Amino acid sequence: MPTNQTREPIVAANWKMNTTPTEGTTLAREILAQHLPSTVQVVLCPPATSLTTVAQVVQGTAISIGAQHVYWETSGAFTGEISVSMLAGIASYVIVGHSERRRLFGETDRDVQLKTQAIHLAGLTPIVAVGESLEERDSGHTHTVIRRQVSSVFQALTPNEAGSSVIAYEPVWAIGTGRNASPDQAQDAIGWIRETVAIAHGSDVADRVRIQYGGSVTSENCVDLLRRDGIDGALVGGASLDATHFATIVLAAA
Ligand code: PEP
Repeated sequence: MPTNQTREPIVAANWKMNTTPTEGTTLAREILAQHLPSTVQVVLCPPATSLTTVAQVVQGTAISIGAQHVYWETSGAFTGEISVSMLAGIASYVIVGHSERRRLFGETDRDVQLKTQAIHLAGLTPIVAVGESLEERDSGHTHTVIRRQVSSVFQALTPNEAGSSVIAYEPVWAIGTGRNASPDQAQDAIGWIRETVAIAHGSDVADRVRIQYGGSVTSENCVDLLRRDGIDGALVGGASLDATHFATIVLAAA
């Protein structure tokens, strides 16, 4: 059965709505200068306006590019949206279902499912973000919420698509708040997510899925979180805007 040792760890930098193309170029160069371990897949997710410039900086290196957003339609009258074909050749990963998009922009489980399918059809890899709100955790609904979010997407995927997907467990109360989940909480939720994938596709597929933890990961708390069995890396927001802090987190995932 694959374990942390056989699933390549993956650490993704979600720059959110930060960095101009010039700032993104500088930050990507600073991250490249950190000599990151080759055993960790590193993904930089700049805003859409910086995707091409940051992609040029990391071209020919082991660092991949991820988009923060995509729409499932292929083309047409969808002002402001980006299709998967527009990302092809620039990005290899796409974050989907981030709680900021669910909460602030009304993205539903169905939207996340359609986007994830479109991402796979284009040969890209989704990073599917799931996680409960504070009210849901406090009322004992963490497992129910995560199961709904994961199964609504994964039941619609082929086994191969499911196994090659990345999932980010991101409790909403931990994102950008400075309050990370404890390693026990993260490990419990990630185990539950893997079990949910296994219900849809069997344990062989579930064992292939890489599941990250995200939510106030810092250079201080990363070691305790990332050394836990089953936690295959991190989705990092705030701390990814600092090259040395981000490099410390990548190192902890190695
Ligand atoms: C995120 O944006 O996915 C995230 C986890 O943010 P932060 O690390 O700032 O909490």
